[in-house]
Amino acid sequence: MRTHAITGRLLPLPIDPLLSELAARARASRRLVLSAEPGAGKTTRVPMALLEAGLAGKGEILVSEPRRLAARLVARYVAAERGERVGGRVGYSVRFEDVSGPETRVRYVTEGVLLRRLLSDPELSGVGAVVLDEFHERSLSTDLALALLATLQSTKRPDLCLVVMSATLESGPLARFLSDCPVIESPGRAFPLRIDHLERPDERPLEKQVVSAVRQLLRDEPDGDVLVFLPGAAEIRRAQEALGELGKSQDLLVLPLHGDQSVEEQSRAVEPAGRRKVVLSTNVAETSVTIDGVTGVVDSGLARVARHSPWSGLPRLEIAKVSRASATQRAGRAGRTRPGRVLRLYTRGDFESRPEHDAPEIRRSDLSEALLTLHGAGLPGFDALAWLEPPPAAARLAARKLLSSLGALDGGGISAVGRRMLTFPLHPRLSRVLVEAEDRTVAARGALAAALLSERDIRRASRTAFGRKAALDGARGDSDVIELMDRFDEARDARFDGQALGRMGLDVRSVRAVERARSQLARSAKNRGTEPESLDEEERRVRRALLAGFTDRVARRARPGSAELVLAQGGGAKLSEDSVVHDAQLMIALDVEERAGKGGNVVRLASAVEPDWLLELGADAVSQSDELGWNPESERVERVERLSYGNLVLDESRTRARPSPEASRILAKAALASPRFSLADGGLGTLLRRIELGREQLPEAGFPELGPETAAAALEQACEGLTSFDELGAEPLAKSIARSLSPEQQRLLASELPERVRLAGGRGLEVHYEPGRPPWVESRLQDFFGSAVGPSVCRGRVPLTLHLLAPNQRAVQVTTDLAGFWQRHYPGIRKELMRRYPRHAWPEDGRTAAPPEPKPGRRPVR
Ligand code: ADP
Ligand code: MG
Repeated sequence: MRTHAITGRLLPLPIDPLLSELAARARASRRLVLSAEPGAGKTTRVPMALLEAGLAGKGEILVSEPRRLAARLVARYVAAERGERVGGRVGYSVRFEDVSGPETRVRYVTEGVLLRRLLSDPELSGVGAVVLDEFHERSLSTDLALALLATLQSTKRPDLCLVVMSATLESGPLARFLSDCPVIESPGRAFPLRIDHLERPDERPLEKQVVSAVRQLLRDEPDGDVLVFLPGAAEIRRAQEALGELGKSQDLLVLPLHGDQSVEEQSRAVEPAGRRKVVLSTNVAETSVTIDGVTGVVDSGLARVARHSPWSGLPRLEIAKVSRASATQRAGRAGRTRPGRVLRLYTRGDFESRPEHDAPEIRRSDLSEALLTLHGAGLPGFDALAWLEPPPAAARLAARKLLSSLGALDGGGISAVGRRMLTFPLHPRLSRVLVEAEDRTVAARGALAAALLSERDIRRASRTAFGRKAALDGARGDSDVIELMDRFDEARDARFDGQALGRMGLDVRSVRAVERARSQLARSAKNRGTEPESLDEEERRVRRALLAGFTDRVARRARPGSAELVLAQGGGAKLSEDSVVHDAQLMIALDVEERAGKGGNVVRLASAVEPDWLLELGADAVSQSDELGWNPESERVERVERLSYGNLVLDESRTRARPSPEASRILAKAALASPRFSLADGGLGTLLRRIELGREQLPEAGFPELGPETAAAALEQACEGLTSFDELGAEPLAKSIARSLSPEQQRLLASELPERVRLAGGRGLEVHYEPGRPPWVESRLQDFFGSAVGPSVCRGRVPLTLHLLAPNQRAVQVTTDLAGFWQRHYPGIRKELMRRYPRHAWPEDGRTAAPPEPKPGRRPVR
């Protein structure tokens, strides 16, 4: 390792005069809050001061940093300052690297490593003190670590020393939480700053804006270094290229600073240099790393921040505007040693419209990983800890639900699977995938899949181009994740060569990040069982492992071949055109882009699953129903047996129902709703109205009231033992209604409320019983020859209304009084009829005339 430039020389720092008091108070109270401006010397000096005051006991001091970069750089610097080698007395442990040894007494770690340590050794044996650095960032891990440590201190480790350090001065609530522990504040000194904003937003690419701003600072300020805040490595690389010419012409050292560099590259950016420097940095230089000599700051106002996919809960990085507090910190970096200049690449209005602070992560984060960690530490959940700010109830519930659906919890506690999941530093969905991959003996492939899903997308080319290419290459079309794995394999075959990756449309940095994560995961992932026999089998197993992490995210095409998806959890989405999943009906949706308005959510990554896999998930997952239902097409009751997964029907079989009371009820209900069995007209209606008329006109017979309910009941009765409309003619229905009458009533119904009457001439006529009008009959006038009076019903109490028709079937008279008709109207009408129908016989006295012979077979006309 390269020797450090600062070997053996301890610079005086603002914190120095406070160190002995600080150590003494920490020793006395075991809890201490320290706030001091960035660069004061907190990170580099406090842990060593605690060590020298004997607070490590016989063990170590752990110092947790939110960023890998800070842990590595500071450890190296602290060792070098004292002329020691890093990994000796001072070391560090971060996700992919452990630089420490048996002599190590001060160990800088990332928050993730600290949490893991707390998990594997909940009492932190061998640790005398823990320093939580950069507490003002309020990452979820720091909040969780604080809760665990405070709880540990008040239970099993009262001797443990806890120091919380922050770059902002709002330490009140924190000190109160730590039972009013001592607070040491070092307000620091700051030189005046001149801060300029843009007059109006600059639409040019960010790197062009950076070049202009740097050029202006160099012109206005005779010396001093420039620090440029950019959101991420990609923007830094572009700005570095854009600054090339200016750098050469002004003899500048243009240095990037971000997490993906080697520690040597990172040190180079931070250490003093012989030339004027322009450091292009992510927000690590905001408070975690101090670069001496900076007098000019260019602030893009942006940062890449950790968010969570609302769909899966998986972490993802997004570029976002920084808060006013962050912008102020960034500006402050220019005024540490003398008055400074700040150029903000945004307007004052933009600055003023930003939130004052970023909300602490615990208020907006997916909590499933934290909850699993707690269970791993033997704690039953969030309530088991004292929190500076307890996590919101909805997020806690969601975390518990997810862990249960992943099988990580059983009953109240962690399951064996949950425990295995903890071995992987991944979101629980992905660690579940990896555990399943171990069980299915595809651990190495599972490690790659998990790495691809946990890191940034490796594809650089537009997704559309990618999708088309995949289609052209004859991708197997069943999993976007396997497609990504294939891309990665090609990259590995090309030995991750930058140019080759570029030609493949892959992002070099992302591919390398995936490779780092993959190799680490692959080291701890162990196969269990028999190897797959073919590539096909291997891929099936990988897809199955993926399902294990996304059992609550199953989707099914609305129709074969359609991109519309129905989601098991309810609702719908659209499968991206770029997906290689072309044929499968069922799939899991691993990543969803929420598009407000425009056609809803789009599933970006999908992976096919087979129905049997869902069935094998067990009785909880798949529900079976066996119901009778009405089929309007076949007009019959059917037995519907369904297998459902959430909202999705996996399998359905319909068979003719066997007769049962339930089937009759369903048939009756359908009949009541069908015009075919309407009670308003047709034979049934007539029957009901005859009975109704009987109730009115023959009160002595005591006909029952047959309202709609009675009719419906009769209908149900008629449906007994039947299952279809075909079986249920109107006939059984009428019989069933009639059955509710006494024999006497039935006799009266037939004789006094007849369906047909016979005229004197012998002709039979249908009696029309219609709602709202008296009963009536109609026939040709001649048919009434020979009848002195008209027919009546209800023991002669209700004369029928007669429609008397001319030979052209038009009514010549409508009357209830046939005798009166013969007498008063017939003579006049007769003359007219004789003129128009001379070939018909029109006898003078209709009462006595003989009616014409009815033509055989001809039915009376209505
Ligand atoms: P704080 O934690 O209070 O922000 P630090 O302890 O990180 O401050 O840094 C204090 C000082 O130590 C810085 O101002 C800088 O001069 C020096 N320093 C820290 N780390 C490095 C490094 N890696 N290279 C060069 N100088 C460093
Ligand atoms: Mg610090």
